[in-house]
Amino acid sequence: MRKYNLAVVGATGLVGREILKILVERDFPIKKIKVIASENSAGKKIEFKDQKLEVITATKGVFKEIDIALFSAGTEVAKKLAPQAKKEGAIVIDNSNAFRMDKKIPLVVPEVNAVDLKIHQKIIANPNCSTIQMVMLLKPLAQKYGLKRVVVNTYQAVSGAGKKAVDEMLEQTKAYLKEEKIENKHFKHQIAFNAIPQIDTFMDNDYTKEEMKMINETRKILAKPKLAITATCVRIPVIFGHGEVLNIELKSSYKIEALKSLIKKSPNIELIDDPLNYRYPLQTDTETNDNVLVGRVRRDNSLKNGINLWLTANNLRKGAALNAVQIAENLITNNLV
Ligand code: NAP
Repeated sequence: MRKYNLAVVGATGLVGREILKILVERDFPIKKIKVIASENSAGKKIEFKDQKLEVITATKGVFKEIDIALFSAGTEVAKKLAPQAKKEGAIVIDNSNAFRMDKKIPLVVPEVNAVDLKIHQKIIANPNCSTIQMVMLLKPLAQKYGLKRVVVNTYQAVSGAGKKAVDEMLEQTKAYLKEEKIENKHFKHQIAFNAIPQIDTFMDNDYTKEEMKMINETRKILAKPKLAITATCVRIPVIFGHGEVLNIELKSSYKIEALKSLIKKSPNIELIDDPLNYRYPLQTDTETNDNVLVGRVRRDNSLKNGINLWLTANNLRKGAALNAVQIAENLITNNLV
C-alpha cells in the first residue's frame, strides 16, 4: 500500500494537534511527516507515535516532496503559504476562511459533497466548523423533503476561537471564583459565565462574518445558491462542542417517525432523542463522540412543514481536523492525489 508524505501547518495549535492525533487514530498511511508552525515554536518537539518531531518554519522548498499539506494556521498564513505549497507540488487542505468561497476551489464535507473533490486544482477548503455539522443534517433532509427555509442559532464553544481563547476563559473563570479583576484580551467582553452574541467582525449588513460564512458556505456545499437561510452566532463558555438550534421549513410534508429514522440512517449522524428520560445531545458528549449528535426533534406547529431540533458536534474534530483528514482519505481512495 502506498504511503504519503504529509505536512501539518499550524501543528502546535488546537486544530493542528487534533489533526496529528486523528492521523494516528485512523492509521493514516504516512511515509514522512513535517510539523510546521510560526517562528515562536521553531525547535519545539511534538510527540507523534514513537517519534519526537521537531517543529520547523515554512522556508522555501519545505513542501517539495510533500503529497498532502493539512493547513490550520489561519487565513493570512494560508493565503501566503498555500500557493507556495501548491507550486512546490503538494495538495493543500485548508481549514481557514482563505479559499472557501473561491468558485474554482472545492469546499467539502465528505459525507455531503465528496464528488466536488474531483475538480480540485491542488487547493481544497474545509468549511467553517458550524457549517459542517449543519450541512451533515441538511443534506439528507434536502434530498428527501426539499428545503424551503433554514433558521440557525448557534451556541459556540470557546475552542472555536483557538488556544488563546480557551486560556482566557479558564483564567477569567479562576479570577471570577476568586473575586479578582477579570481581564479581556482575546474576547471584547467577559466570556466566563457569559454569552457573547458576536463571533468575528460585523459586516455592512449587520450580520457577523461567522453568520455570513454559515449562510454562504451552506449554499455552496449544498449547491443551492438561492437557499433561504439566516443565522445568529453566539459564543458561550463551554470548551468543546458547538451547539445549534435549527428551525427548518421543508418543501414537502413529513411524518415525524420517518424523519427521525432518516436522521438515524444518515452517515456519521446519531439521533439521541429520548427527552422524557433526559436523553438529548450535550456539548460535553462531543469530547468522546465524533458523530454529529441530533436531538429534541419536534414539529414546529407554527409552520406548515416545520421542524425544530438541536444538534452538536466537536468543533475541533468533525468541525475541522477530522473533516480535513477524511478529505485526505477520500483523495487517496479515489486516486486524486
Ligand atoms: P490556534 O490554536 O491559534 O493555532 C494556530 C496555529 O497556527 C499555531 O500552530 C501557530 O503556531 C500557527 N501559525 C501562526 N502563524 C504561523 C505562521 N506564520 N506559519 C506557520 N504557522 C503559523 O488556532 P486553531 O483553533 O487551531 O485554528 C487554526 C485554523 O483553523 C484557523 O484558520 C481557524 O479559523 C480554523 N478552524 C478552527 C476551528 C476550531 O474549532 N478551533 C474550527 C474550524 C476551523 P504557533 O503555535 O507557533 O504560534
